[in-house]
Amino acid sequence: MTQRIPVVERILSANDELAEENKSRLNAANVFAVNLMASPGAGKTSLIEQTLPRLAEKLRVAVVDGDIATSIDADRAAAAGAIVAVQVNTGGECHLDAVMLHQALGQIELATVDMLLVENVGNLVCPAEFRLGTHKSVLIASIPEGDDKPYKYPGMYRGVDALVINKIDLLPYINFKMDYFQRGVEALNPGLVTFPLSCSTGEGLDAWVHWILENVKRKA
Ligand code: MG
Ligand code: ZN
Repeated sequence: MTQRIPVVERILSANDELAEENKSRLNAANVFAVNLMASPGAGKTSLIEQTLPRLAEKLRVAVVDGDIATSIDADRAAAAGAIVAVQVNTGGECHLDAVMLHQALGQIELATVDMLLVENVGNLVCPAEFRLGTHKSVLIASIPEGDDKPYKYPGMYRGVDALVINKIDLLPYINFKMDYFQRGVEALNPGLVTFPLSCSTGEGLDAWVHWILENVKRKA
């Protein structure tokens, strides 16, 4: 047991070194990159599908899709207007790491891209522990998951730069106490910028898209 901790630390620091290299490549090409994390079914791919058409006139967006198997999500991203969509099959791993993003970046002509959306594997635990080299980390929560998730997955909520609360159109049908949820978030990540929205109705998407555009402008 006592030997386990140093090994884990070594793996993480090798990952962090490569994450820095990824970030340097993205910066050299002036690409703003976002790591999207969520549990399965929270709406990562749906958010990408709704976001891409709203950015189409302004930004050239590439998508990297992490999944344990299949290329369903990358196909959806390409159909929604991604100029390139790279599928990363993790071969059973339940998260993306910097090596996987490094390999995916090798398949993208970064000079032709303004923004990169990375869809991580659906999982609220280890994706938070593996830096990729993206500029912002965004967590997508959703109403059907329940209002207790900040309390159950503090590591994920603590480490992100923005929070999307998806499926707010379902609030009338589900016992989700928004006050309780937001108190949990505030305790872990005070002042976290939050976007309540619905990928089904389109409500709230404008504020989310505005946040992306402001970040791109700030980076340029
Ligand atoms: Mg997906
Ligand atoms: Zn994992």
